[in-house]
Amino acid sequence: MYNIQITRAFTNKTLAGRHVEVTNGIYLNLVLWEFYELIVVIFINSPGMSSSRREFIRKSFLLTGTVGLTGSSGLNDNNSISQSGDRLVLLGTQGGPFIRSYKQTPSANLIVYKNILFVIDTGYGVTFKLLEAGIKLSSLKYIFITHHHSDHNLELGPLLYNAWLSGLAEPIHVYAPAGLKSLLSAYWESNRFDIDTRIKDEGRPDIRLLVVSHEYSEGTLVSNSDFDVKSLRNRHPPIEESYALKFKLGEKVVVFSGDTTYFPALATFASGADYLIHEVMYGPAVDEMVKRRPNATKLKASILSHHTLAEDVGKIAKAANAKNLILNHFVPPDDKSLTDEVWTKAVGSTFSGTIIVGKDLLQFAL
Ligand SMILES: [Zn+2]
Ligand SMILES: [Zn+2]
Repeated sequence: MYNIQITRAFTNKTLAGRHVEVTNGIYLNLVLWEFYELIVVIFINSPGMSSSRREFIRKSFLLTGTVGLTGSSGLNDNNSISQSGDRLVLLGTQGGPFIRSYKQTPSANLIVYKNILFVIDTGYGVTFKLLEAGIKLSSLKYIFITHHHSDHNLELGPLLYNAWLSGLAEPIHVYAPAGLKSLLSAYWESNRFDIDTRIKDEGRPDIRLLVVSHEYSEGTLVSNSDFDVKSLRNRHPPIEESYALKFKLGEKVVVFSGDTTYFPALATFASGADYLIHEVMYGPAVDEMVKRRPNATKLKASILSHHTLAEDVGKIAKAANAKNLILNHFVPPDDKSLTDEVWTKAVGSTFSGTIIVGKDLLQFAL
């Protein structure tokens, strides 16, 4: 049986659609993703393959990947949304608010559907990740916040502000649990001088009037002929206003677990999802982390009470019969021993479907 690993996504026109042979009989499959979004899928775990051969393929991939990135990395001002079609983009996959590196930033995701932009959570770093994904900030239309932990909402105000400065002229709708209105009004107040100055000095529309805030609870958030968004209250104590979100986009269904402990009702909510994006925690690593903090006597119970063990994530995906399970919001986020293989193996013990270890800026066609 082959283990499919999605190793890296990048944009490059010259390699589109090619199969590159890196050693005798072994190919890197460069799958054309819409027009020129490429995703590299490498088949490496065939039975009987020697470790030296596997390592050779890995090194060959890294070389090819580096060539592919030349000239196309960095901010992409010319990449309008219509060029890449309907898609899901992971913008920030780290669990927790601590900033460690740009490579993996706190929670944020993007859906592009029928040229409508949906941002799901706005953890620190979301603005730059959107720019890297080729998004015009002034085109943002909908923002959804799953709950008011800072790794999910810290950059909400700055993202709205940056969209405004980049030319936002149409209303932008923000959906979040109770607390949204006070969060935004405090942000506007803290930046009142700058905003008032630019309205008067530069003739800009009032950002405070362009942003339409919707405080939501469980149920349908927005529904029309193009799409439907529903919420389900999950289990993320001590926060009660915490939600999973389901996007119905034509025939496609995308579900975000939000932050939650093992919550079987989520499987029903996510039934048949094309993509289930679920938070994940690795139990043995939590034990190790707790041992390093002997003065926090309730730490393990606290962590276990509001996140989901990898094996339980698999159970949810299995019960939901999810077509693709995407892991994100990794807890702990900074343990280098937790390789993709470790996460996949733990989740794979209870789920035999497609498991993808999420990475920032990884994209999926819808
Ligand atoms: Zn979180
Ligand atoms: Zn949280």
